[in-house]
Amino acid sequence: MANGGPVEHGYRHLETVRAAVTALYRRLSYDTIHQFATSVAPADVAFCDTDELYLGVQRVARELVRHYRLPDARMIVAFREMEHAANVELTAGPEYFVELNDRFRTHRRDIGAALAHEIMHVYLHRVGLSFPGTRDNEILTDTATTYLGAGWLLLDAYREDGASSQKLGYLTPEEFGYVLAKRSLVFGEDPSVWFTSAQAYTAYERGMERARHDERQPPLTAAGWAGRRRYARDRRHAQAHRPAAPAPGSLDSPDSPDSPDSAYAFVPAPDPPGALRVTFPCPTCHQRIRVPVRGRVRARCGLCRTVLECDT
Ligand SMILES: [Zn+2]
Ligand SMILES: [Zn+2]
Repeated sequence: MANGGPVEHGYRHLETVRAAVTALYRRLSYDTIHQFATSVAPADVAFCDTDELYLGVQRVARELVRHYRLPDARMIVAFREMEHAANVELTAGPEYFVELNDRFRTHRRDIGAALAHEIMHVYLHRVGLSFPGTRDNEILTDTATTYLGAGWLLLDAYREDGASSQKLGYLTPEEFGYVLAKRSLVFGEDPSVWFTSAQAYTAYERGMERARHDERQPPLTAAGWAGRRRYARDRRHAQAHRPAAPAPGSLDSPDSPDSPDSAYAFVPAPDPPGALRVTFPCPTCHQRIRVPVRGRVRARCGLCRTVLECDT
């Protein structure tokens, strides 16, 4: 887990974050994801500077192991001087060695955040889910930590004042806020009451705006006036210049708009001849959905089971 450096903002990793949410649904299934409807409770991972260090670390690690449902896993946590914030050795288990940066000895309130990320590495290792490359794999780990109910700790570890700043993990604060917001929209949970950091709260609000934006993209009926108008224009264009039949397995037509938020694309339907279908990302899990172009259509995402009201 990375440590220090200037805090980056914005949504530079958004594409990978969305791919990570889709990969989680694919690998874990709807039912497993819904076992994580309740987040880690603040009281269960609270750690103050008067608590005994090693007992406290083991207690917080056990709580996270329980939350992630890793019954036989045991975390052996040690502190050492290191460049990174934390590290875990991925082995066959059941014992896993986690190293925390020495600075956590005196910043105990953030130990839960560091362990949430490291123990998620163990979880993903056990379910056999990874992204190629360190950067993408770390983004997957932060996204999974957050989507499965422990990542609010990572966002809450983000603090800035005049003199100093601190942030843990690879996602920007807004991206943590975005994944957390997507989670709270699915589970109807409000994590904002747990924040101790004002900056974390602001990042969550920004992330929520972005998550709601996903739900208002055409062809969804919740799309705004401008989006619907753009969609109607693109559809007329597609109907006038029928795209060639797509290669098997390819969902995107070359006509697809560039903006990833509105990445709908028109493709030929198998029948009747001349009919079109529209493909677009599910606003919940970002898997691509395909529905016929014929006005009002209700679809259900096969992966996350979200019911999608569309006007195609
Ligand atoms: Zn990591
Ligand atoms: Zn979905």
